[in-house]
Amino acid sequence: MLTAIVGINWGDEGKGRMVDLLSESYDIICRYQGGNNAGHTVINDKGKFVLNLLPSGILRSETVNVMGGGMVIDLEHLSNEIASLTNKGIEITPRNLKISDKAFICMPYHKSQDILEEDRLADKKYGSTKRGIAPVYGDKYMKKALRMYDLFNENTERLAELIEWKNLTLKSYNAEADFEKSLSWLNQYKKTIMPYITDTTEYLLTAREQGKKIMFEAQLGALRDIDYGIYPYTTSSQTLAAYATIGAGVPGARLDGVIGVIKAYSSCVGEGPFTAELFGEEAEALREAGAEYGAATGRPRRVGGFDIPASRYGIQMQGATELALTKLDVLSYMEKIPVCVAYEVDGQITKSFPSGEKLQNAKPIYEYLEGFKTNISKCKNENDLPAAAKNYIDYIENAVKCPIKYVSVGAGREDYFMRGQK
Ligand code: GDP
Ligand code: MG
Repeated sequence: MLTAIVGINWGDEGKGRMVDLLSESYDIICRYQGGNNAGHTVINDKGKFVLNLLPSGILRSETVNVMGGGMVIDLEHLSNEIASLTNKGIEITPRNLKISDKAFICMPYHKSQDILEEDRLADKKYGSTKRGIAPVYGDKYMKKALRMYDLFNENTERLAELIEWKNLTLKSYNAEADFEKSLSWLNQYKKTIMPYITDTTEYLLTAREQGKKIMFEAQLGALRDIDYGIYPYTTSSQTLAAYATIGAGVPGARLDGVIGVIKAYSSCVGEGPFTAELFGEEAEALREAGAEYGAATGRPRRVGGFDIPASRYGIQMQGATELALTKLDVLSYMEKIPVCVAYEVDGQITKSFPSGEKLQNAKPIYEYLEGFKTNISKCKNENDLPAAAKNYIDYIENAVKCPIKYVSVGAGREDYFMRGQK
């Protein structure tokens, strides 16, 4: 069985939390895109963890975790993440962590370039996490990047060529990448990382033949996809489920299902059009209730009501076969629950998700549903919910036209229920 678990919105829907829960039924969890700009918070019996690069199955000792070739990996960050989890008692060995030999290496000069460009843009910034992700993906497509397999040979000539090329750009920012420093950075961190590097394509192909269950874990959400998201305020990789098998290293495989993680309201970290955005006291109350501060950056997230046009589009782009609705408990303080039901674009009401200038100019049309005003964080069964909360779930399910199978009512692993259970 091959399942992708992906974000429907702008990211931070609670994917890490859902992977931590659902990974129990899978043998292998595979991250297929992105880098350490991800922040997946997981809270379970072992503690609280923020995962940037490691797949969220790393906290289960039986699960094998794969970092696919579609990823970009900062060796220093990964070394630190492994060390910090090991210090918390999580065992990480080449048995339960396998890094694709084809994943790309995010170098310190990528990070510098990201910071320099974002600072140059000043108030026109893209909202980058400044971790080098856009520059390294850019270099990948320019065919000027290093891959994990390059760590196995002392190809200093290639590094020197890459740095010479990169400096053509960095010099225009009055900066420079240094060959010796880059080489010693690679040598310093490759010692920790090399034991995990392997041909993960072969590993996954064999696992499939053996009937192993594989879950592909995405970073961010549909609206951050480089091609179908809110470009240029997107990430630089494909966050869509259709890319899962490609980024994982088994492009010929077919997914059996796509679980879309969708939040009971909206949040968006960084810049870009965010039609359903709420402001003032209404926003502050929701941000506080949902603790909406970036896991990777600590930035306050922009917040809004559930956005039907954006979510419906996200579900269609992901091809979600079922949904996990998260953070329903957060809404329990509200008298009335705001829902963005449509957009007004150039005087027209639309339920579809526009692009470009039309999206920039879109205004939300809000309706309000009855609040449930009850702490639901201990609910283990849909039937225990107040009628207004049940109504809210049904309303969203009908609006987005995809079955909601799981409902999460707290950050802990067991704080959820499945729908349709007696
Ligand atoms: P991800 O990037 O999609 O993995 O999501 P993040 O981890 O960045 O953000 C989700 C945040 O919400 C984390 O701090 C989770 O611990 C928390 N969380 C997840 N599900 C729930 C839930 O159902 N209720 C509450 N109150 N918090 C949740
Ligand atoms: Mg996150």
